[in-house]
Amino acid sequence: MALSLTNTLTQKKELFKPLGDTVKIYICGMTVQGPPHFGHMRAYITSDILIRYLEFLGYKLKVIQNFTDIDDKVIEKSLEEKIDYRVIAEKHIQEYYEVADKMNIRRADIYPKATQHIQEIIELIQKLIDKGYAYEAGGDIYFAVDKFSDYGKLSKKKLDDLIAGARVEVRTQKKNPADFALWKASKPNEPYWESPWGQGRPGWAIECSAMSMHYLGETIDLHLGGEDLIFPHHENEIAQSEAATGKPFVRYWIHNSMLNLTGEKMSKSTRHFITAKELLDKYAPNVLRLYFLKSHYRSPQEFDFGILDSNKESWARIEDFLYSAEEAGIDENSKPQVPSSKFMEAMDDDLNTPKVMALIFDAVKEGFSAIQNKNTNELNKRYSEVMFYLRALGFNTDLQNRTNKRILISTGTQVSAKLEFRDITTLMKALELAKSLGYNIIANLIERGNDINDMNLLAIARDLAREKKSYEISDLLRKGLEEMGYSLEDTDKGTRIKRKS
Ligand SMILES: [Zn+2]
Repeated sequence: MALSLTNTLTQKKELFKPLGDTVKIYICGMTVQGPPHFGHMRAYITSDILIRYLEFLGYKLKVIQNFTDIDDKVIEKSLEEKIDYRVIAEKHIQEYYEVADKMNIRRADIYPKATQHIQEIIELIQKLIDKGYAYEAGGDIYFAVDKFSDYGKLSKKKLDDLIAGARVEVRTQKKNPADFALWKASKPNEPYWESPWGQGRPGWAIECSAMSMHYLGETIDLHLGGEDLIFPHHENEIAQSEAATGKPFVRYWIHNSMLNLTGEKMSKSTRHFITAKELLDKYAPNVLRLYFLKSHYRSPQEFDFGILDSNKESWARIEDFLYSAEEAGIDENSKPQVPSSKFMEAMDDDLNTPKVMALIFDAVKEGFSAIQNKNTNELNKRYSEVMFYLRALGFNTDLQNRTNKRILISTGTQVSAKLEFRDITTLMKALELAKSLGYNIIANLIERGNDINDMNLLAIARDLAREKKSYEISDLLRKGLEEMGYSLEDTDKGTRIKRKS
């Protein structure tokens, strides 16, 4: 068994063998003229999954993911909003980090920005001019596609068709309509850098070539991105880089399929998208990750709130199992063997995450039976199995990050109470306090809505706290209940709660 990946260049599943000791990976990052949308997240979850799996296999990695902080779209936005392009870029870079961190997407080693690499870009362009692959026309520099005989090898496009189909641009002085810009002379009011060809700025694709070669060398192992980047962006990256060095630029091109919204690809430039942030307000990061991983990265996905809602239920079932198992008593020290061979079999096959998801749900089912049959060994095994798969796929299984909060408070030998909190901050405060006062607390989370019975248990816990004269805790519990929409009444039988109308 070994990892096979579909290489867009050969259109085949190929055995992955890195060139050296360290796997060199370049991920095409966002053009930062707007916030990350949910379609972007599909690309970065895909790269996250591949990176996690390569690490699982024991490879050392070097990962570069750029930010395109200068290009036509960024300038357009800057002129439209009358804000410095750097301010716009920085804002959206921060938004990217915020969303990616929430989604538990591993950080790359370096996030270079195009504007930090103008010197390398100019040098690369000069090299292409010197070698006869590029020419100047009115302050612009173009790459002459007919000089590079392999042009079209990634996208499988034919140069003649490209020439016939090329749009005639107004200001262009290209020799061939299919030639593309490496450098663009700046127009008045546009940001610019000095160059041997006058004031201007780089074209889009040359930025990625220069940054990839600067950090990773002339030939890299993996270049990742959405399939919408295959042409012209990646085709142009190949032409520029290979024309300059005479060496293969990338050994494996990995592209994820698109996320469609009502049948059309989600795209910033057409304003046809849902932002990642909007969805993170409605759904837990684990639910969104599950949504992506239930499809293979090379299958197109249709965005649908109905599917997301059913994924939410699927995730709740997984958490329900984790908490039920923890409540039933998991032996943390038993360390049963994890089924890594089943996992690897699925992942080796071009990152077959839907298959791993199916393994998770099978293990959850078996685990529930084990709880019912009070089969501790089997339960330990299933619990470890589920945890192993979840962690390997980048789900966040920490207690604080679980979607559905439910806690079990047991106060010594007396009573245990299952609680559910909407407001995790209050809950955590109460727990910390309770712990510092010597309460025995087991956190246990299960999704079951804001159930009045659970709330009654919370009220019991409040009475217990008062009995023990732990007024801070009882106050916090009262506040928590009130915040969740309940009113409290003290009776001789203890606290009685009612949902406020
Ligand atoms: Zn790129």
